[in-house]
Amino acid sequence: MSNLMLLPVEPGFYLKGTMKNNHSFISAVVPPKERSGPAWWFAFLGNQLLLYQDPDSFRVPYLREFSELGVPHNGAHYLGELDGHSCYAVDLKENAGVPQGMTLEGLRKVYGHLDEELFWLAARAVQVVDWDRTHRFCGRCGVPLKNRETERARECPQCGLLHFPRLAPAVIVLVERGDRLLMARSRHFAPGVYSVLAGFVEPGETLEEAVEREVMEEVGIRIQEIRYFGSQPWPFPHSLMVGFTARYAGGEIRVNDQELEDAGWFTADHLPGQPGKISIARRLIDSFVEKQGRPPLCCPAQARRG
Ligand SMILES: [Zn+2]
Repeated sequence: MSNLMLLPVEPGFYLKGTMKNNHSFISAVVPPKERSGPAWWFAFLGNQLLLYQDPDSFRVPYLREFSELGVPHNGAHYLGELDGHSCYAVDLKENAGVPQGMTLEGLRKVYGHLDEELFWLAARAVQVVDWDRTHRFCGRCGVPLKNRETERARECPQCGLLHFPRLAPAVIVLVERGDRLLMARSRHFAPGVYSVLAGFVEPGETLEEAVEREVMEEVGIRIQEIRYFGSQPWPFPHSLMVGFTARYAGGEIRVNDQELEDAGWFTADHLPGQPGKISIARRLIDSFVEKQGRPPLCCPAQARRG
């Protein structure tokens, strides 16, 4: 028997070896006894983040105490330290008003307008707040749960069942065939936008099996050489996207019209509309384009800021 403990991945945590591991953020659950300076407060009403609105940007509240804002809330969850400054997720009460000079915004809208590290901390915070709201009672015996003090978990005082923040792993894969890549369009995408294929992992599957199954189910293509690319937390509402590349092995495209509207093979210089820079899908596509010897495609968010 080994003494190794299984540790759940925290929402918003970057797996080692991926493209976003340059954070100076240290995740923690137990808050410091005394806070020396201001802290970052990621406060949500539903899925909307409370921000200061400046003429052309948004700012996350950075205050000694959240109570300085005078906004009613249900409590705060300590997330850890960013450059030595404490970070908290705050659940605002339903009737919370918005103070003057502030606004409530969805995360997708503020991407590209907030510091990247603060954006991904907000993405972590919304998942912790959502878990707090939806895990009050034991799913087995219905009694109120108790917080575990040293880990992000709740325990049933009656049956001992542990409840961790919920994460749904999903795979996303870029399939190459020579100088072309496979892209598909789902009905709920914005007009003209295509992306690489993605889907949720089923119980009992390895990530690689999920990749193979999704590609077969959605377009009827066999693939080979499935390789890990990187991962990304996806807070809409609580997925962990695990990215892969693969090569075409056989078959012709048969679009599953339950899931997709269209699919096809595209070369780097004739790509359709693509998902935004926030997504790992776009990073996969950009990396394919770069490999074909072309400069990365322009980033709308950066263009706006420039
Ligand atoms: Zn129980």
